[in-house]
Amino acid sequence: MRNFRQTSEPVAARPGKRAAKSVSNSTKPASGDFAFTHPDRILIRKPKVTKRALAEFYSGLADLLLPGIVGRPLSLVRCPDGVGKSCFFQKHSMQGMPASIRVGRQANAKGEQEEFLYVTGIEGVMGLVQMGVIEIHPWGSTLADLEHPDRLVFDLDPDAGVEWPRVKRAARLLRERLQAVGLESFLRTTGGKGLHVVVPLNPRPDWESAKAFSHALARTLEEESPKEYVSVATMSKRKGRIFVDYLRNARGSTAVASYCVRAREGAGIATPLRWEELSRLRSGAQYTIANLMRRLDTLKDDPWRGLGKVRQSLPDAF
Ligand code: ATP
Ligand code: MN
Repeated sequence: MRNFRQTSEPVAARPGKRAAKSVSNSTKPASGDFAFTHPDRILIRKPKVTKRALAEFYSGLADLLLPGIVGRPLSLVRCPDGVGKSCFFQKHSMQGMPASIRVGRQANAKGEQEEFLYVTGIEGVMGLVQMGVIEIHPWGSTLADLEHPDRLVFDLDPDAGVEWPRVKRAARLLRERLQAVGLESFLRTTGGKGLHVVVPLNPRPDWESAKAFSHALARTLEEESPKEYVSVATMSKRKGRIFVDYLRNARGSTAVASYCVRAREGAGIATPLRWEELSRLRSGAQYTIANLMRRLDTLKDDPWRGLGKVRQSLPDAF
């Protein structure tokens, strides 16, 4: 049994049961009366993850997963036939979509109405799994205030060949630079190649300031160590470098949610960590669907404890 029950993020979430305890032969996961079609369809081959197993995993983690996704517009990675077949990003409504997946509307920059998808609880996540969604990527703002992000995400993307210790150094450096302007940050693995450094903001800035600040910081790192870091997305400029992706911090951009399974072989999980864990971390995909529960069982506290209580805002000048 996990020793902490709820993340300190502010959005109310329902406590869940550990997945290991809710495994059953039923097509209905512990969290609701959701009937899945093709529950035995294999979504990820290695380790083997079926649709039912994914639903049970997410419902077992509801108290950790939901605070990062409830009430935020979502981009989804759907793999109806499993990873290895065609997977695609989706952010608009789908045919045959369960009612637990909600549709919202907003005016875009041109004043046109645009729809977005969101969920209000675990039933929504079950609806997503039913549609073959593996990954859930929320906006950095909530429905209550779409125009003002409550977090920044710096996504450290190492080019092929960049050795892991350099990625760790980048995260540490980013943390120091944020601290230097009075900002506390939080670390997570992506479940893939890199690391995310997440900065909660309260009061919230507008998107323009969020992007300008993140861009300025990424550019500074590049200017100081041009062999180490690059702040532009152009692939040809990345060679041997770490792309400090600040572009997650624009209106409509997303980053993968904490505790989300990645739609990749290995079933890595985006996992919140304490900064103290960084020195021993071996990869961005260290935690997977196969070992995350063991980690949670031994954790005494939420690695992101305090995130919801942080009061900090962007510096006036940067
Ligand atoms: P890794 O550590 O392996 O890079 P990651 O989650 O950071 O994992 P990226 O490929 O760097 O993955 O993508 C960063 C983010 O950009 C994703 O989490 C996702 O939210 C967003 N993203 C990437 N590709 C698309 C796309 N085609 N459509 C919409 N959003 C995307
Ligand atoms: Mn990345």
